[in-house]
Amino acid sequence: MRAWSIFILFVLLTVAAGASAGQQPTGPDTLRWFKGNTHTHTLNSDGDSTPEDVVRWYREQRYHFLVLTDHNFVTPVDGLNALYAADARFLVLPGEEVTDQAAKKPVHLNVLGGSGMLVQPQGGETPAEALQRNIDAMLPAGGLVQINHPNFGWALSAADLQSARGAHLVEIFNGHPQVNNLSGGGLPGAEELWDAMLTGGQTIYGVASDDMHELKRPWSKQAAGPGHGWVMVRAARLTTEAILGAMARGDFYATTGVELTDLQAATDSLTVTIKEQGSTKYTVQFIGKGGHVLEEAASSPARYVFKGGEGYVRAKVVDSNGLVAWTQPVRPGAAR
Ligand SMILES: [Zn+2]
Ligand SMILES: [Zn+2]
Repeated sequence: MRAWSIFILFVLLTVAAGASAGQQPTGPDTLRWFKGNTHTHTLNSDGDSTPEDVVRWYREQRYHFLVLTDHNFVTPVDGLNALYAADARFLVLPGEEVTDQAAKKPVHLNVLGGSGMLVQPQGGETPAEALQRNIDAMLPAGGLVQINHPNFGWALSAADLQSARGAHLVEIFNGHPQVNNLSGGGLPGAEELWDAMLTGGQTIYGVASDDMHELKRPWSKQAAGPGHGWVMVRAARLTTEAILGAMARGDFYATTGVELTDLQAATDSLTVTIKEQGSTKYTVQFIGKGGHVLEEAASSPARYVFKGGEGYVRAKVVDSNGLVAWTQPVRPGAAR
């Protein structure tokens, strides 16, 4: 009897210890958030560091995955995964920045994952034509197609992007210092270009990335350094299939530093729960077609109930220190 009592006490204490440590039930299908960067250069194009140094930086900064996207070159990842990704602790995905130009404007797109086959830039008379020709050449490689920094060189207009078909992702924030993420001179910013695509009826998801070129000048504001923009992807496992599958479904958010603990798209509403930090304050905007702000909230969780006629609904969280998170659009009435 006495042994049983001690045993039961031991079990209760063990359970209590687990609960107080905030342990969540874990299993093969438990969804988690994985942090990743989808745009990274190495010495295999115009980056300043070896693939190994680059992968080590991201792994040491507690990222979960990294896509290597050198200009018109597929950096091999098998050896890197053998060194840095044992026991699914990290994942390096192959990729390429298909780097093209048309009418003297840069047209750049990333392939994320896929077969690893090299896609040559396809050219075109206009940026819009080059954009579509490259997307069409990239899709057979498998993986996802990401339209990069649309305002680099003010290359891609809203009409160019609205006419494009087949891309999965578009950069709404890119950490390179010369890509014009924001509007200026009467021209729209990258986020407004995304709204134009969404308003036109496309299903395309917004990405924040580093476009990392330089590890060796961390003090310089002119350097395209690491750690400026990333995605948080909700998946059960850290595998290429699970990560790219979740991104293809829009089960992720883009961020420059604001993190979420939860994000729920229900049939009748969209709810965002912020991982609040210290004394930082937050504003949540729910945005619909035309980029119009439908509603604003100042506390978390923030919930927007669909009223009909929004076209799409997405949330943008801006904090009092200038950091931002962008969730993906949902179309009320459409199954996710
Ligand atoms: Zn580029
Ligand atoms: Zn790049």
